Amino acid sequence: MDDNVRKLFDKLKKRAIDMGAAAEYTLKQAGRKTGDTVEIAKLNMKIFDINSEIDLDFRKLGELVYAVHNGREADDNEIESLISGIEQKLNDIVLYKERIGILKGSVECPVCQSICGKDDKFCKKCGSEL
Ligand SMILES: [Zn+2]
Repeated sequence: MDDNVRKLFDKLKKRAIDMGAAAEYTLKQAGRKTGDTVEIAKLNMKIFDINSEIDLDFRKLGELVYAVHNGREADDNEIESLISGIEQKLNDIVLYKERIGILKGSVECPVCQSICGKDDKFCKKCGSEL
């Protein structure tokens, strides 16, 4: 097996293990009773689902690129809608992660609305006092 292919396989394998661990962690979290913990677990599950959808989108995108490589005409609309779908999903993940940060006791910067650690004195993005 060529080195690059081996590296890619190693990376994909590690990612699959990470995703399995994330799902397991989410299930453990869901067993707890407090409202915030349950909401955090639900958000983590949503993020997990969205990541799976993104993987499928990337796969479709790869198939389209491969079809083009094989001399088929590119369907610009399909490629465009896959890419914008992926971007939308990535944005959703950012929002869910911010919400998780708030639930875990993070604070929002009054100036730029970044989510910062609850013990931070200054915003990590704009430097404003929190
Ligand atoms: Zn800020």
